[in-house]
Amino acid sequence: MPERRHDFYLLTPGPVTVAPAVKQEMLRDRSPNGDEMMAQVNAIRAYMVEICNGVGTHECVPVQGSATFAIEGVFHTLVPKGSTILVIQNGFYGIRLKEVAEGVGHTVVMLELPMTVTPTEADLDAVIDANPGITHMIMCHVDTGTGIYNPIDPLAAVARRRGIKLLIDAVASFGSFPIDVKEQGIEAVMISPNKGLEGVPGVGIVVCRRDVLEASAGRSPSVVLDLHAQWAFMESRGWWRFTPPTHVLAALAKACERHRAEGGVAARGERYRRNWRRLVDGLRQRGFKTLLPDSVAAPIIATFMDPDDPAYDFQKFYAAMERRGIVIFPGRLTAAGTFRIGCMGDIVEEDVSVILDAIEESMAEIGVTRTMPALERQA
Ligand SMILES: *Cc1c(COP(=O)(O)O)cnc(C)c1O
Repeated sequence: MPERRHDFYLLTPGPVTVAPAVKQEMLRDRSPNGDEMMAQVNAIRAYMVEICNGVGTHECVPVQGSATFAIEGVFHTLVPKGSTILVIQNGFYGIRLKEVAEGVGHTVVMLELPMTVTPTEADLDAVIDANPGITHMIMCHVDTGTGIYNPIDPLAAVARRRGIKLLIDAVASFGSFPIDVKEQGIEAVMISPNKGLEGVPGVGIVVCRRDVLEASAGRSPSVVLDLHAQWAFMESRGWWRFTPPTHVLAALAKACERHRAEGGVAARGERYRRNWRRLVDGLRQRGFKTLLPDSVAAPIIATFMDPDDPAYDFQKFYAAMERRGIVIFPGRLTAAGTFRIGCMGDIVEEDVSVILDAIEESMAEIGVTRTMPALERQA
């Protein structure tokens, strides 16, 4: 029997299973303006900038809320009125980006791709040729709706060549995939503490160019999501404008220490890749099929097709897994008839073996014997 390292596994696309040492940090109260909290916040901000190669050019601005608050803060603060944003969409979170950009009042142009296809320079050039007003473009680096990995380089090349500003929703990828804001000319990246960084939810984080931030004073119609005001206040006073999530920040400071000690982005990404490999191979051996080919899959979450067995019902499967202390996730609207299992968090291959056993038991318990999707059986 593989060893069970956690009583409860949270295998969603975030939040994730968090190490006991990170949870431990939340047992103590801290003053938001105290030296300890200020040192922790400074350490977090410096680490964010460091691991995406932004030292000297970029600043880190955290905001209270979830990662979408950071995304909305970017649209309010760093994108001037009258801009046109190209949103690249091949999954659920691409649709979310459109919703937020339009909600803030920007003009949006969509590049919609099938959910297994990543954008090429030719795709981008074509949509920019057809819409000469485009000033910014944004894409999910990993869209966790399915787990597709969208390389940044084609966007970076086109952005540079055509003078368009590049924004990256790195909410799911940050901490486990390399991002180089200088080399790739990225104006802003949006980050979550509760995915690849293995902290807990409660803060959204932006790393953005300092000159762009400096030029954005007074632009945001939102008070609480004004990234410039947040940054200027933090720089001048050292603490936050409004009550910060102190426990979340203490946990994140510890999570950053652990990230560095593990070996940074490369080592974290490698561990997730090993988890994902074992999960995908293990479920394929048991007859399941992934939605995405491995060539476009980000090894941080895997999407599987529902089994073609009349006994299969996601809610029953979910409940059977939950009884075993494991939480999985349904497919998103954009990928109906699927379920998702995350590979992020404080988990290693041994944990994946526990998870595979639980899936096998759960399927048996609900009476599923045919794990292949319908299309496969016909083929
Ligand atoms: C998790 C996630 C988000 C943000 O979700 P919140 O619920 O606001 O934390 C945005 N984009 C992607 C790709 C994500 O995976």
